[in-house]
Amino acid sequence: MIAEEEIKKLRETASIARSNAFVPRSDHKIGSSILSTDGKYFGGCNIESNISGLGSCSERVAIDNAICNGKYGFKALLILDDKLTVPCGACLQYLLEFYVITNQDIIIISSDIEGNIKNYSLLELLPNGYFPDHDIEKIKSYKNK
Ligand SMILES: [Zn+2]
Repeated sequence: MIAEEEIKKLRETASIARSNAFVPRSDHKIGSSILSTDGKYFGGCNIESNISGLGSCSERVAIDNAICNGKYGFKALLILDDKLTVPCGACLQYLLEFYVITNQDIIIISSDIEGNIKNYSLLELLPNGYFPDHDIEKIKSYKNK
């Protein structure tokens, strides 16, 4: 479960990040935010690059932002776009690696700019993600700092 206050804070964090999106080619700004299991919020925006494929989705930037701040266990991720949308498969797969740390499904919240919300979960959107067994214990050793 996620509280209204947490969703509000996730939306605010994603909205600020969205305003900083680097999108000279598409002009399509997307913002994301992620909530760590110990209650910290981190934003991310989409970043385009001259070299297609080098750009980043806002969700991965939010996850990377959290990791740079010593957070590895996540409760929820929100994506803020013009209309309701869900993270791409690559971002879901990226997030799956961190699900293993807490072994708790991660809430995925889709939000549009008008404030409409739709909730999913990571395992609902990616029920059969790729996860090899060999690194699990090492990954589980990463705890929020
Ligand atoms: Zn993505």
